[in-house]
Amino acid sequence: MKIRVNQITESPKEKSFEEGTDELNRMYGGERVRDFHFPPVVNAHLLYYRSGQELFFQGSLSGAIEGICSRCLKSYSLPLEKEFNLVLLPDPLGLKSRELNRDEMGLSYYSTEEIDLAPLIHEQVLLALPIRPLCDDQCRGLCASCGAELNQGPCGCAPSQGDPRMAAFHVLKQDQKPSAR
Ligand SMILES: [Zn+2]
Ligand SMILES: [Zn+2]
Repeated sequence: MKIRVNQITESPKEKSFEEGTDELNRMYGGERVRDFHFPPVVNAHLLYYRSGQELFFQGSLSGAIEGICSRCLKSYSLPLEKEFNLVLLPDPLGLKSRELNRDEMGLSYYSTEEIDLAPLIHEQVLLALPIRPLCDDQCRGLCASCGAELNQGPCGCAPSQGDPRMAAFHVLKQDQKPSAR
């Protein structure tokens, strides 16, 4: 979605629209194990207005992201709900090379006649993602020795619901057993 700067008025306007996620999927695609997959579009609702040359955007995003659990590697659905507030200031240097610039203070500048919201929305989506995707806080993941999915129940090689500290103790006890050979 692009909004022309001269159509942003002091009285707030609202817009609901869908923003594509091709770029996000490209970032998380490729050959490495992907952590997230994005729906073709995220839904955005935006309120925007200006005060002088400063442009204000208040938005909310929603959609369903597919996450790949970092423990059991299964995909799961992750609701996207993100609210944001942004202020864009006119670029004091008048740089035309980039559409948006950001300084050390986190202030964003615009230097074009038209604001492209796609990069702003993509950034907000990335901010909403968990650092480590988990299908469930209680996910037991995969057995490190046999690869069995422990959410389905214990596998043969570890004590059930094993505390890793107890597992080390268990091995120790086995080693101390008198030889049964
Ligand atoms: Zn999981
Ligand atoms: Zn196992």
